[in-house]
Amino acid sequence: MYAGLKNTPCCLCGREDTHTRIEVPPRALTLMENSGPIAWRDVVGSVTLRFCADDWALVTDLAIEMDTHPLSRCNAAHVSLDLREDHEALLSATKAATDQTELEARLETRARETLETVDDPYTEERDVVEAIVVLRALADLGVRDPSEDPLEG
Ligand SMILES: [Zn+2]
Repeated sequence: MYAGLKNTPCCLCGREDTHTRIEVPPRALTLMENSGPIAWRDVVGSVTLRFCADDWALVTDLAIEMDTHPLSRCNAAHVSLDLREDHEALLSATKAATDQTELEARLETRARETLETVDDPYTEERDVVEAIVVLRALADLGVRDPSEDPLEG
């Protein structure tokens, strides 16, 4: 069983020395490379992606200049996540897979709030990039309607 990692390298190039991290919903794993063995529905909380300084600059450009995300080039084997404990999985074996929609709605709300304050001097560029990645990923996954995006229009 895939156990997950804690201290992960850059998910784009594998370099150990990372610069910035962002959080995305577990369903976004399905947009990444090598996500096959990971049961994203069993992930507890969000998934953390780390980037080295060079790749963070690239991700920032992709998000801010091109309004897109790098997930298709991210290695799912290099992300940090928590899976439900085995005993917990056994106890809830008859239950449906973990419902991810609540977490997705929470991340979406946070991302939209960030983009609504994009001109605020206290809004960090990192947060804006994370917000764009989260919203674009959820749109690609069919979880949300991109026409509701505050940056549209
Ligand atoms: Zn890198």
